[in-house]
Amino acid sequence: MQQDFFWTDAQLQSAVEGKRLNPQAGTRSFSEVVTDSREVTQQSLFIAICGERFDAHEFLQQVVEAQAAVILISQEEAWQTLTEELSDDQQPAVILVADTRLALAAFARWHRQQMPLKKLIAITGSNGKTSNKTLLAEIFSKAGRTLATQGNLNNDFGVPRTLLQIRPQDEYAIIEMGANHPGEIRYLTEIAKPDMTLITNAAGAHLEGFGSLQGVIDTKGEIVEGLDPHDGVAIFNHDSAGIEDWLKKCSALGIGKVGLFAKESQETVTLPNVTFGEVETLNHGIEFVLTAELADGSRFSDRVRMPVLGEHHAANAAACTLLALWAGVAWDAIKAAIETYGGVPGRLQKTQIRCGYLLDDSYNANPESIKAGLSALMTLPGCHIACIGAMGELGDYSVQAHHEVAEYAAHIGLDALLVYGEAAQDMPRVFAANTHASPRIPNIFSAAFLEHDSLNRSLNELVNKWFVEDEVCPQINILVKGSRSSQMETIANAVQQSW
Ligand code: ATP
Ligand code: MG
Repeated sequence: MQQDFFWTDAQLQSAVEGKRLNPQAGTRSFSEVVTDSREVTQQSLFIAICGERFDAHEFLQQVVEAQAAVILISQEEAWQTLTEELSDDQQPAVILVADTRLALAAFARWHRQQMPLKKLIAITGSNGKTSNKTLLAEIFSKAGRTLATQGNLNNDFGVPRTLLQIRPQDEYAIIEMGANHPGEIRYLTEIAKPDMTLITNAAGAHLEGFGSLQGVIDTKGEIVEGLDPHDGVAIFNHDSAGIEDWLKKCSALGIGKVGLFAKESQETVTLPNVTFGEVETLNHGIEFVLTAELADGSRFSDRVRMPVLGEHHAANAAACTLLALWAGVAWDAIKAAIETYGGVPGRLQKTQIRCGYLLDDSYNANPESIKAGLSALMTLPGCHIACIGAMGELGDYSVQAHHEVAEYAAHIGLDALLVYGEAAQDMPRVFAANTHASPRIPNIFSAAFLEHDSLNRSLNELVNKWFVEDEVCPQINILVKGSRSSQMETIANAVQQSW
């Protein structure tokens, strides 16, 4: 936390158009914004959010005892019950608004406008937001002081709170924006006012809230609405569903600076672009060629190594390269960041285990990212086992999505599929119906479980049999993946301990 930076209650009041309830208590300044009463210090602005499960107005007593500098509330009576015992000195500055969630957004929007950033970059998409954010943060840190979303704080609370962490010394901010309902990206982009935007892709994630893939495409496309038509830069995935819609939207809004990243193909891309090709899997990552054709007409190609697995990382590198080049970062700095990229925990992280490799991709899943994970698994020499947890938030598409993944796993030649969770129970049947016996393993294995423990026992037996007893597989690689709700990290941890 920067102690030298602070806001005053008056700045807050004006930004949120609130009413100061206790002017007699004098002015206060604060240097941090918190919504959890347990985190309050004397430097805090506490914002009382009314959530689905808690109404933070119930914790005001605790907040006052912790001597918060300022509190922002939407229920006047909650404050009035506290005032009687407090002298003016003991009181925080209290500001009343109609809706504290919107006030948080308004304060973040105002603060972002005060900060002299060179570029604010916003990222959305169905897959790869955090991965791209992490790589961009590593790239831009080489060009100047960079703030990035911490972890996965990409929603209507996370984004404003991240923006409020921007300090005058920061030159770049990389902001992840997530959505599971139409209108959410519009809300976030109006607060953040990005200078550059990136849509990684549109796929069948969170279909429950969107209704259809078209709903996903439209919502992701909202991100360009906050761009300045003359100076704003929009970057899209040429190979993704939705690309036509996004390009049309940019032209309707008069956004002229549009660029594409793509997998190298015969098709000519006329807009400024970075493509990736010749992807090869090495022992500790991938190697590929990036080719850039830039807005100023210049063109170059270079071969890069990235210490992570999966072709989708080459796509992420292409996206980040185009964006960073456009922002003026030198290619040498970009390349250095790609070549030392550490990945993100739980996103296809490769660790050596006794029997081969573990690919821990347990953080989250949807059909596209499972297919990406399975493809990465298959690039490793040896046998291939996938432990897949059920995918959530897919609505009516759920049954079909699980079938598709099982079919894909069979077609690419997976040796064993162990699935966990209610929605995944039918996958072994589909897998078995589509698979062909491999020359290595006479009996392809598939099974479904409703408990982590039983999946784990079965996995141990299988690895033991193939690796230790029968020695049919000198190297066994295990992919662990599933939706957040499936908590497949339990399996990844167990594999790491046992093998
Ligand atoms: P969330 O919506 O949970 O915030 P996210 O969009 O931030 O997800 P990541 O956390 O970066 O995405 O990655 C999620 C999964 O998608 C991981 O399994 C990762 O390996 C995979 N992934 C990363 N980049 C891509 C990509 N470009 N295409 C497909 N899958 C990807
Ligand atoms: Mg994320």
